[in-house]
Amino acid sequence: MKIMGQNIEEMVRQKLEPKRFNHSKNVAKSAVQLANYYGVDEQKAYVCGILHDVMKNASDDEQLKIIEISGEKMTPLEKANKKLWHAISGAGYIKTVLKITDTEIISAVRCHTTAKANMTMLEKILYIADYISEDRDFDGVEDMRKKAFSNIDEAVFEGTQFSIMELAKRHMPIHPNTVEAYNEMCAKLI
Ligand code: FE
Ligand code: FE
Repeated sequence: MKIMGQNIEEMVRQKLEPKRFNHSKNVAKSAVQLANYYGVDEQKAYVCGILHDVMKNASDDEQLKIIEISGEKMTPLEKANKKLWHAISGAGYIKTVLKITDTEIISAVRCHTTAKANMTMLEKILYIADYISEDRDFDGVEDMRKKAFSNIDEAVFEGTQFSIMELAKRHMPIHPNTVEAYNEMCAKLI
């Protein structure tokens, strides 16, 4: 797939460490599989997957600059948590540098770390593809892979639950969007 005459995969490869690039290819692959399964545009899913971590190895300065230029707004909690920056700067990068205008793609990248309530199927697909990609081996990943292809909401529920518990264990703040996604799935599934 080409953007502005440039091979998108090659462009991502140049911005990422080999391990992170490999992860991005795996997420794109899982996203395409989920897209086919759920009847979502596979090209969009591929673009989301390959680009989702494009700013992960960029410096703080580069990230802050792109966030500012792109007009993306950060809440105080986001500002204070550098781990959340790459999703926001990633959305900014694909808007301002790659000139991608598809708001669904931009939004999926923007919420890929925290999730949020009322996600579109594409947003859920990216969030879950990031959990179940081939390079992941956490306890319970097989169960999550099964859920991803039976009821993606259950997989989102499990992903947000996992994330909330891990952050709480480490005494780290929890993004309200993650709590809202968790509560939404809770009400829907139980
Ligand atoms: Fe990420
Ligand atoms: Fe990722």
